[in-house]
Amino acid sequence: MIAEIIINSNAKALNRIFDYIVPKEMENDIFVGARIYVPFGRGSKLEDGFVIGLKKESEFANKEIAKIIYEMSIPEEKMELAKLMARKYFCNISDCIKLMLPPGTSGKEATNWAKEKTGKFVCLAKEEIEIEEAIASGDIKSDKHKKVLEFLLDNDEVYLPDLEKILEVTSSVFKTLEKNGYVEIVEKQIERNPFINKNVEKDEPKILNEEQQRAYDAISFCIENNEPTKSLIYGVTGSGKTEIYMQLIGKAISLGKTAIMLVPEISLTPQMVDRFLARFGDNIAILHSKLSIGERYDEWQKIAEGKAKIVIGARSAIFAPVKNLGIIIIDEEHDMSYKSDMAPRYHAKDLAKYITEKASCPLVLGSATPDISTYKQALDNEIAIFKLTKRANESSLPEVELVDLRYELSQGNKSMLSLKLQKEIKENLKNKKQTILFLNRRGYSTFVLCRECGEPVKCPNCNISLTYHKFENALKCHYCGFQMPVVKKCPNCQSDKVKYFGTGTQKLEDEIHKIFPEASTIRMDIDTVSKKNSHEEILNKFKNENIDILIGTQMVVKGHHFPNVTLVGVIAADGALNIEDYNASQKTFQTLVQVAGRAGRESEKGRVIIQTYNPDHYAISYATKQDYELFYNAEIALRKMLKYPPFCDIIMIRFVGKNINDIESLSNAVYSNLQNLIDTSNTFVYKPFPSPVDKIKNKYRWRIILKGKVNNKMLNTIYKALEVKHIEGVSISVDINPNNMM
Ligand code: ADP
Ligand code: ZN
Ligand code: ZN
Repeated sequence: MIAEIIINSNAKALNRIFDYIVPKEMENDIFVGARIYVPFGRGSKLEDGFVIGLKKESEFANKEIAKIIYEMSIPEEKMELAKLMARKYFCNISDCIKLMLPPGTSGKEATNWAKEKTGKFVCLAKEEIEIEEAIASGDIKSDKHKKVLEFLLDNDEVYLPDLEKILEVTSSVFKTLEKNGYVEIVEKQIERNPFINKNVEKDEPKILNEEQQRAYDAISFCIENNEPTKSLIYGVTGSGKTEIYMQLIGKAISLGKTAIMLVPEISLTPQMVDRFLARFGDNIAILHSKLSIGERYDEWQKIAEGKAKIVIGARSAIFAPVKNLGIIIIDEEHDMSYKSDMAPRYHAKDLAKYITEKASCPLVLGSATPDISTYKQALDNEIAIFKLTKRANESSLPEVELVDLRYELSQGNKSMLSLKLQKEIKENLKNKKQTILFLNRRGYSTFVLCRECGEPVKCPNCNISLTYHKFENALKCHYCGFQMPVVKKCPNCQSDKVKYFGTGTQKLEDEIHKIFPEASTIRMDIDTVSKKNSHEEILNKFKNENIDILIGTQMVVKGHHFPNVTLVGVIAADGALNIEDYNASQKTFQTLVQVAGRAGRESEKGRVIIQTYNPDHYAISYATKQDYELFYNAEIALRKMLKYPPFCDIIMIRFVGKNINDIESLSNAVYSNLQNLIDTSNTFVYKPFPSPVDKIKNKYRWRIILKGKVNNKMLNTIYKALEVKHIEGVSISVDINPNNMM
């Protein structure tokens, strides 16, 4: 027997299939997906790899597989998925396999996460009642000691480093407590539990309203009968989608099945996790990038061992090692984060379709503003659609008003805030209500321009202007992180007529302080969010300390619930529209609807002010009306005309490298292949051209764009066209329907 194997390496030369002989005694044990050691190269050094196929014979095989490593293997169906992904997304199989292995175990050096899994734990050394008495009687004098004991009364046993972090105490505190016989410190297996410190109240399923019930009944039937149907639950925020998800998951669990729920990375907030914890207890595992590798490893193991039946996670949780899958739910299905921008450039929604079909279980997509392609499928009856037309808690949708910034300017108002928005903010300050201001640009001034020679100050590594950051008093590149001190003279012509233009969140905050000196503000953008939980800390601070105004970028848009926010201001709705991107209108519409949804989520009606230079643009005017259907009709007509998805796929072949001549010749070679191979009756090929940002980190960037349907034939053609003589230092990548056209 012969095994086709790939070596677990990124080296380009190894990115191919090798044939190895399966020794007789291994024949019964070998399987597709097995991780193996094989002697490789001249010295026959042992390398690790994966079996991707088995066959009877081969004329090339002359060495034998040395060993199977069972615990680091993946099941055959996962290997099939990896192979499919590699082909469809133009990437290495080994990069796809990595997504399917327990976190931290893909590299050779890191293969032993499980072994390092012991650590120091703290628990009480006396009965609870004795500890309580000791605290009550004043035997425990130090506040820190009290804090620790009280915490341990609520939580049986806690990982020492976590305790130090949570309570902000040093290890000497524990040593003293141990010496005095109050606590015990024990060495044991770590279950790095991200839900530590959680005491959530149990929550019961709600009685569904008629619309919810209809969706639930239909989908729950499919879970029960193993029907791989697709459904869209379409309803505004607060219409009770999550409640349906939870009851469907409950159904799957009651049948002994498992469930995967994907949410956008940024929505994985503790509040959201708490809701699921309250309903399902620790039957859930959470997977996302903010967890440490150790924590992710543990969550993964919990799933693999069947201790957790429900997986909640961002994009890559689609690869979780669930068994007996009963349902996949993708919340906010329109969200861009389900598509990976890095290799493997997969789309979790596509894979979810594949996985649910294989597992014969339903796929549920949910959104208030479905992706245009999804909604078209629903209208075409390819997906079942369930509409939720009311907010479950009966709160009404906010009132949205548009402000034309051109008019504002003509009236001599040069401020970033229109008179209308200023008036509303003032009103909110007076009534002690909170306000969110959204501006999707960080920093202070977005570019620095010399009025003498007309040149902007650019990053030396990227072809993009630098942004002025006032707090650091520096010019920063948002693409490569380059930073330099503020310039007084133009680096180009030495003139001192440099002026700062454009606005960012820092400047907005400054302006707010000038106009409303009494207002308290907090800012949320990449510059203020950096530590592990800081995103959460800012939001909690805003909420708990009742700060008047939250100023932020995209991050403020999603999923949070602030009862006291009654006003939302969008400073510039146009930002994304000017970017060359087939998704620009959809992104603008979705963002505006979502940000508007932050206002007035309780009894009080919310107000939303959208400022714009393009009040007539359909994405903006229909967002103002909060009318998805109107937007959909306009957008789908336009996409049909322009041959954009879903009518075509946009295929971007990107060339990146240090030498511009190499890029030009390579892209031209591929282009001429494409011209010869492509069926031009249904596919359009654009000439190679520099990308909109044509230099990042000192590497030039060109691209070829194709518009056509991606199917097997198209994939074959592109692979063939890419068969050009490799040039050292130029990388080629293929991205299908990219999120980012830059
Ligand atoms: P969505 O996911 O669409 O934003 P949620 O499921 O979070 O909506 O529901 C919004 C609020 O309404 C939540 O507080 C939820 O508990 C409540 N809710 C949802 N469905 C019901 C119901 N059938 N009866 C009572 N309350 C409900
Ligand atoms: Zn100049
Ligand atoms: Zn740069």
